[in-house]
Amino acid sequence: MLVSVISVGNELLNGDTLNTNLAYLGERLADAGVPLHRETCVPDDREAIRAALSHALIDSAAVITIGGLGPTTDDLTRTVVAETLGLALHEDPDVAAAIRAYLARCAVSIPPEAIRLQSLVPAAAQVLPNPNGTAPGLCCQRPGQATVIMLPGPPAEFRPMVDDAVLPRLLQAVPPSLQRPRVVRVAGLAESRVEACVQATLLPLPGLQVAYCAKPGCVTVRLSDPCHRADLLDTAATRLRQAFAALALPPDCLTPADHVAQLLQARGWYLAAAESCTGGLVAAAATDIPGSSAWFAGALVTYSNEWKQTLLGVRQQTLDAHGAVSEAVVREMLAGLRARFGVRAAIAISGIAGPAGATPDKPVGTVCVGVCADAVTTVTRLQFPGNRHSVRERATAMAFVLLRTALLQPPASCPPPVVPLTPSPCCPEPRHVQPVQ
Ligand code: AMP
Ligand code: MG
Repeated sequence: MLVSVISVGNELLNGDTLNTNLAYLGERLADAGVPLHRETCVPDDREAIRAALSHALIDSAAVITIGGLGPTTDDLTRTVVAETLGLALHEDPDVAAAIRAYLARCAVSIPPEAIRLQSLVPAAAQVLPNPNGTAPGLCCQRPGQATVIMLPGPPAEFRPMVDDAVLPRLLQAVPPSLQRPRVVRVAGLAESRVEACVQATLLPLPGLQVAYCAKPGCVTVRLSDPCHRADLLDTAATRLRQAFAALALPPDCLTPADHVAQLLQARGWYLAAAESCTGGLVAAAATDIPGSSAWFAGALVTYSNEWKQTLLGVRQQTLDAHGAVSEAVVREMLAGLRARFGVRAAIAISGIAGPAGATPDKPVGTVCVGVCADAVTTVTRLQFPGNRHSVRERATAMAFVLLRTALLQPPASCPPPVVPLTPSPCCPEPRHVQPVQ
């Protein structure tokens, strides 16, 4: 079943708005085993929307439009879809009543004409309720022809409608033999190394499609089979999990941080962090995870040397001898965290995110990441590529990868953490400079 998307909006093309709705829908459909076939992004322009729709109708079983359902003059999707499909628009009194009820709940009033425009429904279309906004979704299902589903653009409205109205409708038409892709996530290994291991492991299993998605600290391997052989997919996923061993995240963890959360919670341990160049990103990543109060104690952003000294007990002589970005200072930050906050797990980070601050022996991207899991402490100097944003993002991700590694080690024999040695052209990874035990 081919599903196409048309995203409508000038703001998506001029960089004002990131097309997060496409990412959300794409992920949901891929997980369900019906990956998106094509997306076309068009401006708020009648002809552009019409042309994209006509093109999508040629080969798609379903076309989903995003945006352009509001009451302003640039909201054209409803009219253009109705015209293209040859369907008359009529005012639906139930839709108007639902919009008035929504506005009353929010204590907002809008002109009657704005309500009328958003109550227009193409003939025989199903109305998809929108509990979080005014414009409902609209589904035009015509026998023997492509289904066209129109959804509003605001993500807070779009996402629940995808889950509650769109996926159940689309998946109804999917044969029961369809197999969802199997997914294996690998922590702390470069994409090229992941691929080499996948190829060696799956060599005896031809016919599989393998896709990779590398993000800082984690590579996702997605296995699908055009012939939908469940046993083949299960065998392949099991073999990969065996091959990657401890590097493979448990199936219910999307990120290394998710796994750290599980490991800490299982032990009843708390994590504290001291952040310099990441400025709170570790705390943000931890508290992004629902239920983080069960394992995350808190974080200090100790940006200045004074704060490192006052709050964490870093010694002046250590700063003078090694500089703030050094294994020695990070080691003292970790010790300070543990001593002052009584936690059994800790992360400390000090680095040069750039663009300023580099020295000959510490270029931009030099970051010292220390982690502590009870008796196991490792401090690692890493060299990240990219700009300030990228360095901070990668340092944060690697902190969780390294903490996860430490949590998985028996205390007496913690080897240097696993970090990639070979940068991959698709997703350059940090160079492992000097592990310090
Ligand atoms: P619209 O429904 O076109 O009036 O869009 C309303 C709001 O949703 C605007 O703030 C848009 O920037 C936002 N929006 C529209 N399409 C998308 C999209 N594909 N992804 C994320 N936000 C969007
Ligand atoms: Mg718009």
